[in-house]
Amino acid sequence: TTDNTSMPEADDAALLERVQSTFSALYGKSPDGLWSAPGRVNLIGEHTDYNEGFVLPFAINRRTVLALALRDDRVIRISSAFAEGVVEINLDDLAVEELGPDVLSGWSAYPLGVAWALGRFGADLSGAGDAVDGLAAGAVTGSVTGFDAYLESTVPVGAGLSSSAAIESSIALALNDSWRLEFDRQTLAKVGQLAENKAVGAPTGIMDQSASLLGRRDAAVFLDCRSLDAEVVDLGFAAAGLELLIIDTNVAHAHSTGGYAARRASCEEGARLMDVPSLRYLDVDDLPRAQEVLSEETFRRVRHIVTENQRVLDTVRTLRLEGPAAIGSLLDASHASMRDDFEISVAELDVAVETAQANGAIGARMTGGGFGGAAIALVPSESIPALKIAITAAFSERNFTAPTMFVVSAADGAVREV
Ligand code: ADP
Ligand code: MG
Repeated sequence: TTDNTSMPEADDAALLERVQSTFSALYGKSPDGLWSAPGRVNLIGEHTDYNEGFVLPFAINRRTVLALALRDDRVIRISSAFAEGVVEINLDDLAVEELGPDVLSGWSAYPLGVAWALGRFGADLSGAGDAVDGLAAGAVTGSVTGFDAYLESTVPVGAGLSSSAAIESSIALALNDSWRLEFDRQTLAKVGQLAENKAVGAPTGIMDQSASLLGRRDAAVFLDCRSLDAEVVDLGFAAAGLELLIIDTNVAHAHSTGGYAARRASCEEGARLMDVPSLRYLDVDDLPRAQEVLSEETFRRVRHIVTENQRVLDTVRTLRLEGPAAIGSLLDASHASMRDDFEISVAELDVAVETAQANGAIGARMTGGGFGGAAIALVPSESIPALKIAITAAFSERNFTAPTMFVVSAADGAVREV
């Protein structure tokens, strides 16, 4: 069927069983445990993370499930349903300050990068039994050994739902438990970010891992990317009869790398010319002065960040005071700002958003880095079927690639399942 709506609970149980049995078939033994961690969607707060601003993502009901068993030697083996074969390395290769260029490559850089990053945060990967001095708090007991692991994921790759953070968070929690480390979840989020930045080489912020580790059912994670304070905010979608529809345009992020770097550079330039450490230090009252100081284009980039931070704060306040049915105009304004000021939308995203707005959504916006990827629409449940038909028709009329649409709900963050 093409109607891939939200994954029923029953499938979660089947997934756990399949991961367990595949692990046993691969390695000829039972796993010590099963851990899972979700992908995430960003409700509002786009490109604000690297400007030390606010974001409001939530963990979704699409997850990576990981089975892991410690070994009594220093061999690490890991495999995914997603890729052929088993990747094998030695813990010695990860017990280094900086990873050599050829140590980790391909998909396994995500999970094995986390094992390396745990070492950077104080876990003793050397086998000598001593803690690395002067790094983050977290008990180190010398129980660090090799392991066998297998994972499967229901988070679609590259749809802006952070399949990467789902992997990082699942193994971060699994190794934290198995190696008897005592990192808290906020530290594990930083571990995942370090893996993604240094082992994978993607210059991403802390949002994805925070959502995946701190998420709660029917709630969002309100994250201050300057202080890294995180607060859980009730969404109340179900009680209000609302659902969040993901509209993946299936447009590849053609300019995403260059575009992302260029937007970051504009934000840095804006902060420098306004003489602040980051754009977080500006608010809407500073915009008239910014308009005098900055070039027309840099001003619009800055205006997006400053107003987007305000929209995140307004969304949190509105959720608390009035409930989710009242946040639609903030989502709409966020999209307009990304389209006109930050200029990271594409025709497919604009059509998805406009069609949603015209067909019953209470609000809609593109989500993620831009230049392709997905849009989200907050929609009364009963309007979802007609909205999907309208979007399919709007895309086909314009000869766009058919979009993939599915509903997500806000789910719990990473957990030990078994
Ligand atoms: P996303 O927006 O989905 O996080 P990224 O490019 O950040 O996209 O991460 C996608 C990468 O994560 C994939 O190219 C792959 O290397 C890895 N990945 C995602 N899902 C899996 C999986 N189930 N098994 C192995 N690797 C995966
Ligand atoms: Mg990612």
